[in-house]
Amino acid sequence: MQAPEIDVPLQVFETVAAARDFVQTRRFGTVSSPDSKPHRVGVVLTMGALHEGHESLIRQSAKECGSTVVSIFLNPTQFAAGEDLSKYPRTLDADLKRCAVSGADAVFVPTPEVIYPAGFSTQVIPPEIAKTLEGQARPEHFGGVCLVVSKLMNILPGDRAYFGKKDYQQWRVIQAMTRDLNLDVDVVACPIIRDPDGLALSSRNVYLSAKDRGRALSIHRALRTAAAEHAGGQRDVGVLETILREELKPVDEIQYAVVRDAETLAEVQTVQRAAVMLIAARVGNTRLIDNQELNEPD
Ligand code: AMP
Repeated sequence: MQAPEIDVPLQVFETVAAARDFVQTRRFGTVSSPDSKPHRVGVVLTMGALHEGHESLIRQSAKECGSTVVSIFLNPTQFAAGEDLSKYPRTLDADLKRCAVSGADAVFVPTPEVIYPAGFSTQVIPPEIAKTLEGQARPEHFGGVCLVVSKLMNILPGDRAYFGKKDYQQWRVIQAMTRDLNLDVDVVACPIIRDPDGLALSSRNVYLSAKDRGRALSIHRALRTAAAEHAGGQRDVGVLETILREELKPVDEIQYAVVRDAETLAEVQTVQRAAVMLIAARVGNTRLIDNQELNEPD
């Protein structure tokens, strides 16, 4: 595969060996080239169709690490039958350009056969925190996420791995998995990037018609309105959840609109310590998720 024609050097790897070698030589140095100075390596895992949300992860990694590697892999095992795997946007050339201009040094673009060769059968059972919310709405999802993330973290053994809080529960699941499995990586969470109108950037936003997009804005409006109530002193979760549901009237289906403990995602009655509001809603045929943290003074 050709690197994109831009003035920024970007290495593109399709094999496990080449990708792993890139990370290891930068993180630990090489015997053959003792002058090459080992340095911190950051990793950003994506499914492609990159946007400014992904770019923000790459930029943060590039700021904090000497080398940054991005993976682009549309992981089939985290989609259930009937979900949007076949129509998920594929924009590899543009993705490679975004990686380069955001400060990535290398991109790993494996085929499904490289990640799941014939005979592959091992599974990863997700941690407890994966059972609620997305885990209920999409029962197979986090098994696929944990499987591919643990594989990619082994293939790209960087010092730090950057995840977006856009997928809040996914971040918490990966944090728990890396801790439980003693994976040698620091998981770094990055803020949600939104369009100026408030819609959280997502590769799936391209599915939205102009009319659906207008209705989808109610998701961020709901979060903002409830956050303002919380800032004004409201701590009753029942009241906050009612506000979320009221504001979400324009969407076609609310799958969940809840306030949970920020760390454990356990149900809470009142907001006493850091909490997070999480929404999953369907607008037309598009399923959208969003969230906002509610911080409490120490
Ligand atoms: P995906 O390609 O959807 O698997 O996302 C790859 C990474 O980008 C995940 O860690 C996401 O949480 C993160 N991400 C996606 N959208 C955003 C966003 N709007 N803001 C911040 N991070 C994001």
